[in-house]
Amino acid sequence: MPIFEYQCSQCNETFEKIVFSGDKEEIECPKCKSADVQKKMSATSFMGSSIGTCASGPSKGFS
Ligand SMILES: [Zn+2]
Repeated sequence: MPIFEYQCSQCNETFEKIVFSGDKEEIECPKCKSADVQKKMSATSFMGSSIGTCASGPSKGFS
């Protein structure tokens, strides 16, 4: 599953969040609760994506 890294524009807090495909929930900073965050690309998500693509199927049924 893809893990994205975010950085808060308000307090510069960096945090990671697991995002499922099709999930458009708002991302907010866990520290100051601001929604003004920027998505960053982490190296780990790239490495895991090629392997975990097939395994991401069952998670879509979770609602
Ligand atoms: Zn923040």
